[in-house]
Amino acid sequence: MTGSSRRSLVTRRALVTGGSSGIGACVAELLARDGCDVAVLDLELPGSDGPGGGVPGRIRSQGREVLTLQGDVRDSVWVRSAVDSMVEKWGGVDILVNCAGIFRDQVIWKMDDQQWHDVIDVDLSGVFHCCKAVAPVMRAAGWGCIVNISSINGMRGKFGQTNYSAAKAGVIGLTKALARELARSDVTVNAVAPGLIETPILESMTEVAREAAVSEILLGRPGRVEDVGEMVAFLCGDRARFITGEVIRVDGGQYI
Ligand code: NAD
Repeated sequence: MTGSSRRSLVTRRALVTGGSSGIGACVAELLARDGCDVAVLDLELPGSDGPGGGVPGRIRSQGREVLTLQGDVRDSVWVRSAVDSMVEKWGGVDILVNCAGIFRDQVIWKMDDQQWHDVIDVDLSGVFHCCKAVAPVMRAAGWGCIVNISSINGMRGKFGQTNYSAAKAGVIGLTKALARELARSDVTVNAVAPGLIETPILESMTEVAREAAVSEILLGRPGRVEDVGEMVAFLCGDRARFITGEVIRVDGGQYI
């Protein structure tokens, strides 16, 4: 019996960063639907209302366990302790989905160092910290699955987003390198690159920028969190066990 078929017989333990809101909240719920206990790691605890509201309750209503880990993916020491606490409670980490992210848009000649570092620190270093913390756990188990949320803007570059485009391109490089490093341990590592998705992160976007982005989308509408969440859930499941080092766009044709 292979490692993957062994693992499919038991409840999987998933860690979802940015799991209090938007895409991460949807991923947390879909993984619970698919039989995972879910640890929700976020700067903000999921509230009882709003788009991410009630995430722990909705996970429990699927008959699954939930763990909330409030903290900052920029803090590698804290991330390590959060993973340790998950391992202590549930005995392991089978799935990591890195959704935590921010943007601080500005053209480069007006971008200050803080805007650059804020985005690199959360969107790229945060992914590094989380992958680094779970890698020894997955290697020891001989099984695992990591999905990193990048962006089509990390593949094509976007005006006003040198920081975000660089971070999200970095996530793709990290994903491919880590896929090579963890393949022998039967750990898959993939990236999902969404286009414009309807989430709270878009609230700071101007109407003009939003309309320009929507006009690029072949399917004529922004994506829904479920559009991305279902791809992530697929990559975390047995049907995707032969996919690794891949970057999958979920963008309604926005990139082409
Ligand atoms: P969101 O703002 O709804 O969710 C992001 C979550 O990350 C929030 O709950 C936030 O509290 C958390 N977070 C932010 N900084 C953190 C930190 N330092 N430590 C821990 N948690 C932190 O945004 P979303 O649209 O759901 O974005 C999820 C991911 O998808 C991000 O990586 C984003 O870059 C990416 N993405 C989004 C879109 C889009 O159009 N919405 C498009 C492409 C990629």
